[in-house]
Amino acid sequence: MHFTNRINRIQVSPTAVVISAAEQLKAKGVDIADFGPGEPDFSTPDHIKKAAIKAIEENRTKYTATGGIMPLREAIPAWHNRELSSNYTAKECVVTVGGKHAIFNAVCVLIQSGDEVLLPAPYWVSFPDIIKYAGGHPVIVPTRAEDGFGAKAAEIEKAITPKTKLVIINSPSNPCGGVVDRPEFEKILELCRQHNIWLMADECYSHFVYEPHKPYSIASAKDAKNHVIVIGSVSKTFAMTGWRIGYALAPEEVIQQMIKIQSQSTSNPTSIAQYAALEAMRGSMETVPPMLAEYTKRRKRIVEGLRTIPGVTCEWPGGAFYAFPNVSAHLGEGKHAVAKNCTELSKLLLEKAHVALVGGESFGAPGYLRLSYATSLERIEEGLRRLEKFFSRAEAAS
Ligand code: PLP
Repeated sequence: MHFTNRINRIQVSPTAVVISAAEQLKAKGVDIADFGPGEPDFSTPDHIKKAAIKAIEENRTKYTATGGIMPLREAIPAWHNRELSSNYTAKECVVTVGGKHAIFNAVCVLIQSGDEVLLPAPYWVSFPDIIKYAGGHPVIVPTRAEDGFGAKAAEIEKAITPKTKLVIINSPSNPCGGVVDRPEFEKILELCRQHNIWLMADECYSHFVYEPHKPYSIASAKDAKNHVIVIGSVSKTFAMTGWRIGYALAPEEVIQQMIKIQSQSTSNPTSIAQYAALEAMRGSMETVPPMLAEYTKRRKRIVEGLRTIPGVTCEWPGGAFYAFPNVSAHLGEGKHAVAKNCTELSKLLLEKAHVALVGGESFGAPGYLRLSYATSLERIEEGLRRLEKFFSRAEAAS
């Protein structure tokens, strides 16, 4: 069968592959310590669920405006302005089918064949493929574990060419919780301004940052709006992954183009989910601090636990809910090696230790593993026990 070059340029998300392999084992009755999915294990808050039920009862089940219902297009900027000190209006907002959809549409609107997009590594798995699908070329910019994997303006500057059209900064980041602090972010914005490059800020984890970091948006910087496209989502902040509501905040002209592509593809995001998101944006934020407090405890346990495993190092993630240990001491051809690379190691860990996690190659970070700690402390303890056993056996055998 013949398929387009466009579709052949991309692959199925590697995180989805791991999740499905773990699900298959679970279906056979195997008890898996699951650090795979990047998804809060909390339930969607009750007041948000009730708003969706009310929307169904009131028959709000028809098509809506393509770019989202107007109350939500007003409430999202109002929330962003309140929480993250920006000043967007409804015309500068589009509601999408999750944050990933907002990224996909924005990249399709701004990037074409031959364009370069700067992407700090470790990066979220979907960015390179979305860029390639649009015809662009991802240019990977390294970050350093010693800097907490935060992107640095100096590294970005080195990678800029006349073909550079967009820089993507995901802070806090998936897969390693890297946070770009305000002064550095402002330097990156300044570079974008000088070179007339768009700056996409993926803020999906904005409210899950650990001390000393605070939630921050580059859109709050002076005169940022002409160069910045904010991507956000209710998925993580409000434990609403399945509802599929995200958004972009950008200059009105960009938003209009994003609505155009939406009008010829998905049409509006689900009407009922939009009413749920409206309640999330307008209602109380009191469900967020308890989630952050829980992630804070889990982060401490998992990082400390990983650090006790011989040959494993692990930085403190500045935000999000992922630990990103370096296991390169256990890789390669040497006599202490248990696997050639992390992809092979993650398969071994799933089959032999029944621990699900994702190999760093998928994130442009060979030598690392991603463990999502959006799972209970109990399961974290169990997973750590299994990892300790696996790696100490490997040490003893070598
Ligand atoms: N951006 C990052 C960095 C993510 O990790 C995710 C989800 O895992 C998304 C965007 C998209 O989330 P959603 O499409 O559920 O809003």
